[in-house]
Amino acid sequence: MRHPSRSSTQNDQPAPSPPVKEGPRARVKSSSRGGLASVARLLKLGRCKNIVVVAGAGISTASGIPDFRTPGTGLYSNLERYDLPYPEAVFNIDYFSECPQAFFSLARELYPGRHRPNYIHYFIRSLHLRGLLLRVYTQNIDGLEKMCGIPEDKLVEAHGNFTTASCHLCYTPYPAEDAKVAIMSGDVPTCSFCAGTVKPDVVFFGEDLPQKYFLHSEDFPKADLLIIMGTSLQIEPFASLVNTVRASVPRLLLNRHAVGPFLKTPLRRADHLELGDLLDLVQRMAHLLGWSAEIEELMRSQGDWVGPPTQSRAIVSCVD
Ligand SMILES: [Zn+2]
Repeated sequence: MRHPSRSSTQNDQPAPSPPVKEGPRARVKSSSRGGLASVARLLKLGRCKNIVVVAGAGISTASGIPDFRTPGTGLYSNLERYDLPYPEAVFNIDYFSECPQAFFSLARELYPGRHRPNYIHYFIRSLHLRGLLLRVYTQNIDGLEKMCGIPEDKLVEAHGNFTTASCHLCYTPYPAEDAKVAIMSGDVPTCSFCAGTVKPDVVFFGEDLPQKYFLHSEDFPKADLLIIMGTSLQIEPFASLVNTVRASVPRLLLNRHAVGPFLKTPLRRADHLELGDLLDLVQRMAHLLGWSAEIEELMRSQGDWVGPPTQSRAIVSCVD
Protein backbone atom coordinates (compact mmCIF):
# COMPACT_ATOMS: atom_id res chain seq x y z
CA MET A 1 0.00 0.00 0.00
CA ARG A 2 1.24 3.42 -0.86
CA HIS A 3 0.99 6.58 1.08
CA PRO A 4 -0.57 9.02 1.10
CA SER A 5 -3.37 9.75 -1.28
CA ARG A 6 -6.50 11.73 -1.11
CA SER A 7 -9.52 12.47 -3.12
CA SER A 8 -8.74 16.07 -3.96
CA THR A 9 -5.67 17.26 -5.78
CA GLN A 10 -4.45 20.07 -3.60
CA ASN A 11 -2.87 20.31 -0.23
CA ASP A 12 -1.45 16.84 -0.29
CA GLN A 13 0.65 16.33 2.75
CA PRO A 14 1.61 13.67 5.19
CA ALA A 15 2.72 14.53 8.68
CA PRO A 16 3.14 16.56 10.67
CA SER A 17 -0.14 18.25 10.47
CA PRO A 18 -3.17 17.72 8.34
CA PRO A 19 -4.85 20.92 7.30
CA VAL A 20 -7.81 22.24 9.16
CA LYS A 21 -10.14 22.69 6.26
CA GLU A 22 -12.44 25.61 6.23
CA GLY A 23 -14.70 23.72 3.82
CA PRO A 24 -18.14 22.59 4.81
CA ARG A 25 -17.94 23.99 8.30
CA ALA A 26 -19.83 21.89 10.74
CA ARG A 27 -23.44 22.61 10.93
CA VAL A 28 -23.56 20.15 13.74
CA LYS A 29 -23.29 21.94 17.02
CA SER A 30 -21.21 20.41 19.73
CA SER A 31 -22.66 17.91 20.63
CA SER A 32 -26.19 17.00 19.87
CA ARG A 33 -25.74 13.79 21.76
CA GLY A 34 -23.60 14.79 24.69
CA GLY A 35 -20.45 13.30 23.23
CA LEU A 36 -18.07 13.61 26.15
CA ALA A 37 -20.61 12.70 28.80
CA SER A 38 -21.95 9.73 26.83
CA VAL A 39 -18.55 8.29 26.13
CA ALA A 40 -17.33 8.97 29.67
CA ARG A 41 -20.33 7.03 30.91
CA LEU A 42 -19.48 4.09 28.67
CA LEU A 43 -15.92 4.11 29.98
CA LYS A 44 -17.07 4.23 33.58
CA LEU A 45 -19.39 1.31 32.92
CA GLY A 46 -16.43 -0.68 31.66
CA ARG A 47 -17.88 -1.03 28.18
CA CYS A 48 -14.74 0.12 26.39
CA LYS A 49 -11.60 -1.92 26.86
CA ASN A 50 -10.16 -1.94 23.38
CA ILE A 51 -9.89 1.71 22.52
CA VAL A 52 -8.28 2.84 19.30
CA VAL A 53 -7.14 6.46 19.11
CA VAL A 54 -6.57 8.20 15.78
CA ALA A 55 -4.55 11.38 16.24
CA GLY A 56 -3.47 14.24 14.02
CA ALA A 57 -1.53 17.48 14.25
CA GLY A 58 -4.13 19.02 16.54
CA ILE A 59 -2.85 17.01 19.49
CA SER A 60 0.56 18.67 19.20
CA THR A 61 -0.41 22.32 18.86
CA ALA A 62 -0.57 22.59 22.66
CA SER A 63 3.08 21.53 22.61
CA GLY A 64 3.91 24.52 20.45
CA ILE A 65 4.06 22.70 17.13
CA PRO A 66 1.86 24.61 14.72
CA ASP A 67 0.56 23.44 11.40
CA PHE A 68 3.47 24.07 9.08
CA ARG A 69 1.14 25.61 6.52
CA THR A 70 -0.12 28.32 8.82
CA PRO A 71 1.17 31.73 7.74
CA GLY A 72 2.84 33.61 10.53
CA THR A 73 4.16 30.54 12.30
CA GLY A 74 7.83 29.80 12.58
CA LEU A 75 7.52 26.62 10.59
CA TYR A 76 5.83 28.33 7.68
CA SER A 77 8.21 31.26 7.67
CA ASN A 78 11.17 28.92 7.60
CA LEU A 79 9.77 27.26 4.51
CA GLU A 80 8.88 30.47 2.71
CA ARG A 81 12.44 31.15 1.72
CA TYR A 82 12.57 27.90 -0.26
CA ASP A 83 9.84 29.14 -2.55
CA LEU A 84 8.01 25.82 -2.47
CA PRO A 85 5.50 25.37 -5.28
CA TYR A 86 2.99 24.50 -2.53
CA PRO A 87 3.63 23.92 1.17
CA GLU A 88 3.16 20.17 1.05
CA ALA A 89 5.91 19.88 -1.56
CA VAL A 90 8.18 19.72 1.45
CA PHE A 91 7.08 16.05 1.63
CA ASN A 92 7.37 15.40 -2.11
CA ILE A 93 10.22 12.99 -2.75
CA ASP A 94 11.09 14.48 -6.15
CA TYR A 95 11.27 17.93 -4.67
CA PHE A 96 13.39 16.56 -1.84
CA SER A 97 15.79 15.09 -4.41
CA GLU A 98 16.32 18.55 -5.84
CA CYS A 99 16.12 20.59 -2.69
CA PRO A 100 16.52 18.63 0.53
CA GLN A 101 17.09 21.76 2.58
CA ALA A 102 13.41 22.64 2.67
CA PHE A 103 12.56 19.41 4.46
CA PHE A 104 15.70 19.61 6.55
CA SER A 105 14.62 23.03 7.71
CA LEU A 106 11.33 21.55 8.90
CA ALA A 107 13.20 18.60 10.37
CA ARG A 108 15.36 20.90 12.48
CA GLU A 109 12.17 22.16 14.11
CA LEU A 110 10.64 18.75 14.60
CA TYR A 111 13.56 16.63 15.70
CA PRO A 112 12.64 15.17 19.08
CA GLY A 113 14.01 17.31 21.87
CA ARG A 114 12.62 20.75 21.10
CA HIS A 115 9.06 20.08 22.20
CA ARG A 116 7.41 18.25 25.05
CA PRO A 117 4.24 16.18 25.15
CA ASN A 118 1.15 17.89 26.52
CA TYR A 119 -1.96 16.94 28.46
CA ILE A 120 -3.54 15.27 25.44
CA HIS A 121 -0.63 12.89 25.00
CA TYR A 122 -0.80 12.04 28.68
CA PHE A 123 -4.53 11.44 28.45
CA ILE A 124 -3.80 8.79 25.82
CA ARG A 125 -1.09 7.33 28.03
CA SER A 126 -3.61 7.25 30.83
CA LEU A 127 -5.86 5.08 28.68
CA HIS A 128 -2.92 2.73 28.30
CA LEU A 129 -2.12 2.69 32.02
CA ARG A 130 -5.68 1.57 32.66
CA GLY A 131 -5.31 -1.22 30.15
CA LEU A 132 -7.90 0.35 27.87
CA LEU A 133 -5.74 1.33 24.90
CA LEU A 134 -5.62 -1.12 22.04
CA ARG A 135 -3.50 1.19 19.87
CA VAL A 136 -2.91 4.80 18.97
CA TYR A 137 -2.49 5.62 15.29
CA THR A 138 -0.80 8.96 14.90
CA GLN A 139 -0.16 10.96 11.77
CA ASN A 140 2.40 13.06 13.62
CA ILE A 141 6.14 12.74 13.19
CA ASP A 142 7.09 14.71 16.28
CA GLY A 143 7.59 11.65 18.47
CA LEU A 144 5.65 13.16 21.38
CA GLU A 145 3.51 10.06 21.92
CA LYS A 146 6.63 8.03 22.54
CA MET A 147 8.16 10.76 24.65
CA CYS A 148 5.21 10.83 27.03
CA GLY A 149 5.63 7.13 27.70
CA ILE A 150 3.22 5.37 25.38
CA PRO A 151 5.05 2.11 24.68
CA GLU A 152 6.16 1.15 21.18
CA ASP A 153 3.77 -1.77 20.98
CA LYS A 154 0.78 0.53 21.55
CA LEU A 155 1.90 3.09 19.01
CA VAL A 156 1.70 3.26 15.24
CA GLU A 157 3.51 6.27 13.84
CA ALA A 158 1.93 5.94 10.44
CA HIS A 159 3.97 8.66 8.81
CA GLY A 160 7.26 7.50 10.23
CA ASN A 161 9.62 9.21 12.64
CA PHE A 162 13.14 10.47 13.18
CA THR A 163 14.50 7.49 15.06
CA THR A 164 15.92 5.85 11.96
CA ALA A 165 17.28 7.23 8.69
CA SER A 166 18.05 5.86 5.26
CA CYS A 167 18.97 6.81 1.71
CA HIS A 168 15.95 8.11 -0.17
CA LEU A 169 17.11 6.38 -3.35
CA CYS A 170 18.39 2.94 -2.35
CA TYR A 171 17.00 2.77 1.22
CA THR A 172 20.33 1.76 2.68
CA PRO A 173 20.10 2.45 6.42
CA TYR A 174 22.18 5.33 7.75
CA PRO A 175 23.01 5.99 11.40
CA ALA A 176 20.17 8.21 12.61
CA GLU A 177 22.36 10.16 15.00
CA ASP A 178 24.86 10.98 12.23
CA ALA A 179 22.01 12.11 10.00
CA LYS A 180 20.73 14.33 12.77
CA VAL A 181 24.13 15.90 13.40
CA ALA A 182 24.51 16.67 9.69
CA ILE A 183 21.00 18.06 9.29
CA MET A 184 21.19 20.17 12.44
CA SER A 185 24.41 21.74 11.24
CA GLY A 186 23.02 22.51 7.78
CA ASP A 187 24.85 19.72 5.96
CA VAL A 188 23.34 17.11 3.66
CA PRO A 189 23.97 13.53 4.78
CA THR A 190 24.71 11.28 1.82
CA CYS A 191 24.52 7.56 1.28
CA SER A 192 27.85 5.78 1.33
CA PHE A 193 26.50 3.28 -1.17
CA CYS A 194 24.95 5.43 -3.92
CA ALA A 195 25.62 9.02 -2.80
CA GLY A 196 21.88 9.72 -2.63
CA THR A 197 20.61 12.09 0.01
CA VAL A 198 19.81 10.50 3.33
CA LYS A 199 16.65 11.47 5.19
CA PRO A 200 15.04 10.47 8.45
CA ASP A 201 12.46 7.75 7.87
CA VAL A 202 9.56 10.14 7.72
CA VAL A 203 7.06 8.93 5.14
CA PHE A 204 6.82 11.13 2.05
CA PHE A 205 4.11 11.05 -0.57
CA GLY A 206 4.35 7.90 -2.61
CA GLU A 207 6.49 6.07 -0.05
CA ASP A 208 5.44 2.91 1.70
CA LEU A 209 3.81 3.20 5.08
CA PRO A 210 5.56 1.44 7.94
CA GLN A 211 4.69 -2.22 8.30
CA LYS A 212 3.15 -1.55 11.68
CA TYR A 213 0.44 0.52 10.08
CA PHE A 214 -1.13 -2.69 8.80
CA LEU A 215 -2.02 -3.70 12.32
CA HIS A 216 -5.13 -1.68 11.59
CA SER A 217 -6.71 -4.62 9.82
CA GLU A 218 -6.82 -6.43 13.17
CA ASP A 219 -7.24 -3.46 15.47
CA PHE A 220 -10.15 -1.57 13.98
CA PRO A 221 -12.53 -4.53 13.75
CA LYS A 222 -11.62 -5.36 17.35
CA ALA A 223 -12.11 -1.82 18.70
CA ASP A 224 -14.96 -1.09 21.08
CA LEU A 225 -14.40 2.67 21.04
CA LEU A 226 -12.71 4.90 18.49
CA ILE A 227 -11.48 8.32 19.59
CA ILE A 228 -10.48 10.65 16.77
CA MET A 229 -8.54 13.73 17.83
CA GLY A 230 -7.13 16.79 16.16
CA THR A 231 -7.22 15.67 12.57
CA SER A 232 -8.94 16.87 9.44
CA LEU A 233 -9.28 13.29 8.17
CA GLN A 234 -8.35 14.58 4.74
CA ILE A 235 -5.46 12.23 4.16
CA GLU A 236 -5.83 8.69 2.96
CA PRO A 237 -5.54 6.05 4.13
CA PHE A 238 -6.46 7.55 7.50
CA ALA A 239 -9.67 9.09 6.27
CA SER A 240 -11.09 5.68 5.37
CA LEU A 241 -9.66 3.89 8.36
CA VAL A 242 -12.17 5.40 10.76
CA ASN A 243 -14.94 3.71 8.78
CA THR A 244 -13.55 0.26 9.44
CA VAL A 245 -14.81 -0.11 12.99
CA ARG A 246 -18.05 -2.02 13.40
CA ALA A 247 -21.12 0.14 12.85
CA SER A 248 -22.27 -0.33 16.43
CA VAL A 249 -18.96 0.88 17.86
CA PRO A 250 -18.99 4.38 19.31
CA ARG A 251 -16.82 6.90 17.53
CA LEU A 252 -15.95 10.09 19.38
CA LEU A 253 -14.58 13.02 17.43
CA LEU A 254 -12.78 15.69 19.45
CA ASN A 255 -11.81 18.43 17.06
CA ARG A 256 -12.03 22.05 16.06
CA HIS A 257 -14.45 21.24 13.25
CA ALA A 258 -16.56 18.31 12.17
CA VAL A 259 -14.65 16.21 9.65
CA GLY A 260 -14.94 13.02 7.62
CA PRO A 261 -18.02 10.96 8.41
CA PHE A 262 -19.03 13.49 11.08
CA LEU A 263 -19.93 15.97 8.36
CA LYS A 264 -22.89 13.84 7.43
CA THR A 265 -26.16 14.40 9.18
CA PRO A 266 -27.74 12.64 10.78
CA LEU A 267 -24.74 11.09 12.45
CA ARG A 268 -24.37 7.36 12.72
CA ARG A 269 -26.19 6.19 15.82
CA ALA A 270 -23.05 5.48 17.80
CA ASP A 271 -21.22 8.64 16.71
CA HIS A 272 -20.47 11.48 19.08
CA LEU A 273 -18.66 14.71 18.51
CA GLU A 274 -17.42 17.54 20.61
CA LEU A 275 -16.11 20.58 18.83
CA GLY A 276 -13.79 23.21 20.21
CA ASP A 277 -10.32 23.61 21.57
CA LEU A 278 -8.87 20.12 21.79
CA LEU A 279 -6.93 20.66 24.99
CA ASP A 280 -10.05 22.01 26.64
CA LEU A 281 -12.12 19.06 25.44
CA VAL A 282 -9.63 16.50 26.66
CA GLN A 283 -9.34 18.20 30.04
CA ARG A 284 -13.13 18.12 30.34
CA MET A 285 -13.15 14.46 29.39
CA ALA A 286 -10.50 13.71 32.03
CA HIS A 287 -12.55 15.60 34.60
CA LEU A 288 -15.70 13.65 33.76
CA LEU A 289 -13.74 10.44 34.18
CA GLY A 290 -12.13 11.57 37.42
CA TRP A 291 -8.67 11.20 35.92
CA SER A 292 -7.47 14.81 36.15
CA ALA A 293 -5.32 14.46 39.27
CA GLU A 294 -3.65 11.35 37.99
CA ILE A 295 -2.82 12.85 34.63
CA GLU A 296 -1.40 15.94 36.31
CA GLU A 297 0.72 13.76 38.56
CA LEU A 298 1.93 11.78 35.58
CA MET A 299 2.93 15.00 33.86
CA ARG A 300 4.66 16.28 36.97
CA SER A 301 6.66 13.09 37.23
CA GLN A 302 8.07 13.72 33.75
CA GLY A 303 8.48 17.44 34.21
CA ASP A 304 5.72 18.28 31.76
CA TRP A 305 3.14 19.78 34.06
CA VAL A 306 2.80 23.45 33.22
CA GLY A 307 0.12 24.41 35.68
CA PRO A 308 -3.63 24.49 35.65
CA PRO A 309 -5.64 25.49 32.58
CA THR A 310 -5.26 29.16 31.77
CA GLN A 311 -8.82 29.82 32.75
CA SER A 312 -11.19 27.92 34.90
CA ARG A 313 -13.60 26.16 32.68
CA ALA A 314 -17.01 25.23 33.80
CA ILE A 315 -17.60 21.55 33.42
CA VAL A 316 -20.89 21.36 31.67
CA SER A 317 -22.75 18.25 31.02
CA CYS A 318 -23.69 17.95 27.43
CA VAL A 319 -27.35 17.49 26.91
CA ASP A 320 -29.66 17.73 23.97
ZN1 LIG B 1 21.75 5.08 -1.46
